[in-house]
Amino acid sequence: MSAVSKITVVSKISCMLGRHEPQRRDVRWDGRTYVGHCKHCGAPIERIKHRRWRERTE
Ligand SMILES: [Zn+2]
Repeated sequence: MSAVSKITVVSKISCMLGRHEPQRRDVRWDGRTYVGHCKHCGAPIERIKHRRWRERTE
């Protein structure tokens, strides 16, 4: 396992705990909230409050 994939595994644990982080350049306003994709796991996410994001269910 390379160092890069170890970092990804740690990040995915954060994701499993519901702590996603947005890909900054991907974030947009959808008329209701900020939406984007997690930079770690790629899941579609939405902002619930400052610095808190959750996975979107569509
Ligand atoms: Zn994530």
